[in-house]
Amino acid sequence: MKTEILIIGDEILNGETQDTNSRFIARQLSQMGLFVNRITTTADHPQAISEALGEVLSRADLVLTTGGLGPTHDDITATALAGFFNCEMIFNEAVYSSIKARFEKRNKPVNPLSRQQAFIPQKARPIINPVGTAPALWFEEAGKIVVALPGVPSETEFLVEHHIMPLLRSKLPDHYIRYHKLFFTGIGESDLAPMLAEIQATLPRDVTVAYLPGLGYVKIRITASGDDKERISSALSEVAGKMKSVASQYYFGENEDNFARMVSRGLITSQKTVSAAESCTGGYLAHQLTSIPGCSAYFKGSCVAYHNEVKQNVLGVKAETLEKYGAVSEPTVREMVLGALRIFDSDIALATSGIAGPAGGSEGKPVGTVFIGAGTKDHVEIREFHFNKDRMQNIILSANMALIMLKPYLNIGK
Ligand code: ATP
Ligand code: MG
Repeated sequence: MKTEILIIGDEILNGETQDTNSRFIARQLSQMGLFVNRITTTADHPQAISEALGEVLSRADLVLTTGGLGPTHDDITATALAGFFNCEMIFNEAVYSSIKARFEKRNKPVNPLSRQQAFIPQKARPIINPVGTAPALWFEEAGKIVVALPGVPSETEFLVEHHIMPLLRSKLPDHYIRYHKLFFTGIGESDLAPMLAEIQATLPRDVTVAYLPGLGYVKIRITASGDDKERISSALSEVAGKMKSVASQYYFGENEDNFARMVSRGLITSQKTVSAAESCTGGYLAHQLTSIPGCSAYFKGSCVAYHNEVKQNVLGVKAETLEKYGAVSEPTVREMVLGALRIFDSDIALATSGIAGPAGGSEGKPVGTVFIGAGTKDHVEIREFHFNKDRMQNIILSANMALIMLKPYLNIGK
């Protein structure tokens, strides 16, 4: 089924809002084996919508649009679609009841603008929106499907995931798509790619490989698709198994979407607790660790010890150490790790101290110099890094490297 997305909204065209709807929809569709051929953006204007839809439908069998279904005067998608499909706007009882129910919940009468939303194109089948007032509109004509969705990302995401995907799935022949994700650390993609070249050259039919490098790690996504569930699952495990064994020393973990989740799973299954003492990462490491639901099982806390006074008074870093070696040094970071272990009473502690830039570097310690520590009461490892990114990327890299240094303590990547 040839598929396209049509994003409707002046705010996307003038740069005010970044389009996240097409990304979400495209991801959902591709998981079902429907690959989007083109994404178009057009203005909130009846003629623009009609022209764009005409063009898109000359190529595609399935079109998903977002935007302009709301109650205000600038929301004209529904009437533009009625014009395009040559039908009237009619009052729909089911849509009105759902709008009324939403207002009743808040003990409010339905206002006239919201009542207006119960008028929908006669040829559309409404898909009630439980997280907003504008229903999605499903058109089917001459073997083509057009689905109009609201602009608000949370509404579109809910409707796509819970209503549109199941409806589309029921219209498609059995087609499966499966992914296997692998994380590698300590190696860049340009060194990893040649190691995996031979495997890539002999990939089974319907298996593809994508490199998705992050800061400090490389994520590899292996995709297999086809109509035989068993065959694609075994093709995936075979390719993943080969890649893991060829680059085993760099292999970190598998089958999580993002790196923080990968680490989080490792901490949960190893039943270890972790804390941090952060100078240059300024809390970003704690943010990474707390971005995953359920983190209270392993994360104890973090001390943002930016000033030397805090390193001394809270973490117990010795004044002599700071004086003799400086804040950005191996001995200071070692004492920060020990300080965090003491104040947070965690199994493992991480610490960061470095010069994120753009200013603050010196000849001996240029911008991007970062010391990172990880350890337990019995053993602390400190590594020195020299990053050459901008300030924010240096901070993210430092936090990710700290998480990577947790590898020996995690129950993943075995
Ligand atoms: P509403 O009922 O809120 O009026 P709507 O269906 O009319 O919803 P719009 O008015 O087009 O949708 O957009 C509503 C909000 O969603 C705006 O804040 C807009 O910036 C945002 N939005 C619209 N389209 C997108 C998109 N493609 N990606 C991300 N955000 C979007
Ligand atoms: Mg609107």
